[in-house]
Amino acid sequence: MSNEIDAIRAEFKTLRDHSGISATRQDWYRAVQDLLVSRSIPCSFATPMQWLEAARDATTECDRCSGTGDYRWGSQTYDITMKTWKSAHSGVCFRCEGKGKQNQDDYRRNYIHTLYMISSAV
Ligand SMILES: [Zn+2]
Repeated sequence: MSNEIDAIRAEFKTLRDHSGISATRQDWYRAVQDLLVSRSIPCSFATPMQWLEAARDATTECDRCSGTGDYRWGSQTYDITMKTWKSAHSGVCFRCEGKGKQNQDDYRRNYIHTLYMISSAV
């Protein structure tokens, strides 16, 4: 029994650590709590397995596109008719694949991509 709890704790910690590539620890923890609440599970009564399932599924706002799903770069021009600023270039955000939120798959991919970019820059 205690081995089972230890395994659940270890996976929860791993998921929390992976989220650090994009979100603060507080933001990710809040997302896990919000997911429990949305599943009608009060946090203080949730079982360790329910916490783990919420941790696997929790998503946080994308740190690259601020939740819009669009990545923009280049010079900015003011569109007088639309009364908004437009960027010279835009595309689907690669950090969240256009969802605006990052999940565990995104954290893992972005972590590996960041490591690759650092190693190729040196
Ligand atoms: Zn994004």
